[in-house]
Amino acid sequence: MQDIMTICNYCGCGCGVYLRVEQDRVVGSYPSKNHPISRGTLCSKGWHLHEFIHSEKRLTRPLLRKNGKLQPVSWEEALDYTASQLLKTKKKYGPDAIGVLASAKCTNEENYLLQKLTRVGLDTNNIDHCARL
Ligand code: SF4
Repeated sequence: MQDIMTICNYCGCGCGVYLRVEQDRVVGSYPSKNHPISRGTLCSKGWHLHEFIHSEKRLTRPLLRKNGKLQPVSWEEALDYTASQLLKTKKKYGPDAIGVLASAKCTNEENYLLQKLTRVGLDTNNIDHCARL
């Protein structure tokens, strides 16, 4: 058994959390008492942080609905499809028909790029953040 100190990746607070590892599997998560942000506490997401890691329901590759059924596709196909649908929507209904949600699980740089893509690439200010969902 090993406890590995890390940062919770569910939101931007950055709470300190230990992941308990047994036989190459993460089996638990608990707060770091000395971490300057969380000081021995976690919200419910942090306490359950370990549960998604080995989940069989976890998405590990892009899926695209074809003939009413989700099917695995390459990243190229998924991105091409998404880009074409965004451009189609923009052309048909205007840029403000599109809205984008950024994520606390992304880095600052990724969120910066997403707002640039939204404002400059898609011509809309409709960008918000998952914290306000
Ligand atoms: S434990 Fe909760 S508040 Fe802390 S980083 Fe994770 S999600 Fe955010």
